[in-house]
Amino acid sequence: GDAFLSVRDLRVKFATEDGLVQAVNGLSFDLERGQTLGIVGESGSGKSVTNMSILGLHNPRTTTVEGEILLEGQQLVGMHDRELSKLRGSKMAMIFQDSLTALSPYYTVGRQISEPYMKHTGANKREARERAIEMLTRVGIPQPKTRVDDYPHQFSGGMRQRAMIAMALVNDPQLLIADEPTTALDVTVQAQILDLLRDLQQETGTSIIFITHDLGVIADIADEVLVMYAGRCVERGTMEQILTGSQHPYGWGLLSSIPHLSSDVDVPLSPIPGTPPSLLRPPTGCAFHPRCAFRGQVPDDRCSTTVPPLAEANGHLSACHLTPAQKQSIFTEQIQPR
Ligand code: SF4
Ligand code: MG
Repeated sequence: GDAFLSVRDLRVKFATEDGLVQAVNGLSFDLERGQTLGIVGESGSGKSVTNMSILGLHNPRTTTVEGEILLEGQQLVGMHDRELSKLRGSKMAMIFQDSLTALSPYYTVGRQISEPYMKHTGANKREARERAIEMLTRVGIPQPKTRVDDYPHQFSGGMRQRAMIAMALVNDPQLLIADEPTTALDVTVQAQILDLLRDLQQETGTSIIFITHDLGVIADIADEVLVMYAGRCVERGTMEQILTGSQHPYGWGLLSSIPHLSSDVDVPLSPIPGTPPSLLRPPTGCAFHPRCAFRGQVPDDRCSTTVPPLAEANGHLSACHLTPAQKQSIFTEQIQPR
């Protein structure tokens, strides 16, 4: 297709001491320029593995990546690491949950922002320092001309996250992959970082993949949502479609865990019961069936024997054996935030 980023039938396997893990199992999606795709799922759902495969940061000795990852038509699967590493410094960039591992304690914040800039543009030290100050200004660091010479430990957690964003954006990447970038922050700082990402995206037109376990975090920032469970996409639609009419029991669980969507603030959070499945021995059929409260409504034990295909339901895609009419009536009668 002509999408900016096009992922087709992505399959990622890796070898562990206990056997082969199918971490991503036939994932497909498109991302357009300037758009934000949220990938939501619990730990072990394959969302981080997907992101590492796009960036080419998986361990090639233990990991097999199959399928297509096309960035502006350029195939990233199987690309030589030297080329991928060039792309990571220019077209693609990433930010993570833990800024302390992304930033080295031994170098100033300014040096860590300016170094990838010099490497990519050939700018000299003075120009790169100017660029670092400009980036710190853009991400809202006060007194950037002084703070540029600080070390990461002299920054607060929220400021370090801003510095990591400055470092990621210094070469104007077209794709930013953000993996739980606000999870370690308190709610106020989290909201500030989300605002910042949204503003920067409007300025630069960068496409963003935002990975999170919490649908509520991306409710205001993602255009589209892909819900992952046990290595597969189980629901995909616009943020609006998922928030106002999720068509999957797992999506319903994610929705009812968002406190602010409920008008009654005293309603307790309802986390999804049960634990995420082992990818070494994934459940048969629909991988969600051991935790699903609605499987009894599907005839012939189909939930435990047959993998449900992604199919249209209420205008978007859902992989669940319930009929579209069942999904719609369950959503309207039991799930919809009132
Ligand atoms: Fe639940 Fe069955 Fe739908 Fe899976 S296919 S989500 S087990 S109803
Ligand atoms: Mg993760």
